[in-house]
Amino acid sequence: MRDFDRDRERDHDDDFDRKRRGGIQKRRVCRFCVDKLPDVDYKDTSMLRNFISERGKILPRRLSGNCATHQRKVAVAVRRARQIAFLPYVVSAG
Ligand SMILES: [Zn+2]
Repeated sequence: MRDFDRDRERDHDDDFDRKRRGGIQKRRVCRFCVDKLPDVDYKDTSMLRNFISERGKILPRRLSGNCATHQRKVAVAVRRARQIAFLPYVVSAG
C-alpha cells in the first residue's frame, strides 16, 4: 500500500529519464549532424514525431540529443507543423 503512494508522488515528466517509455532512446549525438540530414522540414511529420513525446510535447534536448542548432530548428518546425495542424498541440489523456 505504501509503495503505491510513493509511485503516485513521482508521476511527472521527469520519469522519461529513468523509464524510457515508448521507444524513445537517449542519443548522445545529434542525428542531423551525424547523418548529415538536410534541414528540418516542417512538412515531414513522420520525422518530427521522433522529437515529440507521446503527449505531443517537444522533447527537451537532453532526450532528443540534438545539438543547439538542430534542436532549435526542430522546435521551430514542430511549432509550424502545429499551426497548420500537422501535429497536435497536446494529446489528451486516453
Ligand atoms: Zn546538429
